[in-house]
Amino acid sequence: MKKLSLAIVLLSLIFILLVSYRYSSMTEEVIIESFENRVENNQIEEAVEITETENTKPDVIEKEQKSKKIICIDPGHQQKGDYTTEPIGPNSDKEKPKVSNGAIGISTNKPEYELTLEVSLKLKDRLEEKGFVVVLTRKSHDVNISNSERAKIANMNDSDIFIRIHADQREPSEFNGISVLCPSEENKYTSKIYDDSDKLANLLLESLIAETDATNQGISYRDDISGFNWSEVPVALVELGFMSNPLEDEKMNTDVYQNKLVDGMLKGILEYFNH
Ligand SMILES: [Zn+2]
Repeated sequence: MKKLSLAIVLLSLIFILLVSYRYSSMTEEVIIESFENRVENNQIEEAVEITETENTKPDVIEKEQKSKKIICIDPGHQQKGDYTTEPIGPNSDKEKPKVSNGAIGISTNKPEYELTLEVSLKLKDRLEEKGFVVVLTRKSHDVNISNSERAKIANMNDSDIFIRIHADQREPSEFNGISVLCPSEENKYTSKIYDDSDKLANLLLESLIAETDATNQGISYRDDISGFNWSEVPVALVELGFMSNPLEDEKMNTDVYQNKLVDGMLKGILEYFNH
């Protein structure tokens, strides 16, 4: 009888040991699981943070869109200029500020960086309607992207053309009208893209003047512009008008005139790809 009780006690002990072991390993699993959850959640938070900062960065083109024509638009300037310098072209000893503050509307007080983004966004919509893929170098004002970096964004995205949008200022305030800047024929950095850039600049100016009736300030051929010299794709810079001219400044602040400017650029771009 004693032996039987001893056996029962032993068996109960073994049972208790087994149950408590199982329980402890279960808690361990639960702990591991909740740790894994936390790790996963952290990763999700990190991913969200990256997306948020990516918002200020330019578009990256999806592969399937690559069969379409790609146009990179650079809305000139940014909220705060960066006057540290960068080489004006690859391997150049000459340096220029990375990106300047830009003009201010003499009558509207509007900064150039606001006007250029407004017009760029309108042009982007119109181009997308026509089936182009559009890359913007910036979508907000609070960025710091140098002029050479803007050109590199156009290069990186295999853009077919790179259109830079600016507005002018000059004394006296009577100056008004539209000009287009283009790399010069002698520019050693841009010899490969000169012909196409020249064609693009001329077509843009022609159709802009036809659409707006603005004064034709002509083409300005340049070799000192970092945003041209770093570009590997045909490039032109449109000066929409003079922010130093009260009338033109007011006009450029209206939807009606902005739409004319956008129509002009759109027609010039369509012409460029049709020839
Ligand atoms: Zn400018």
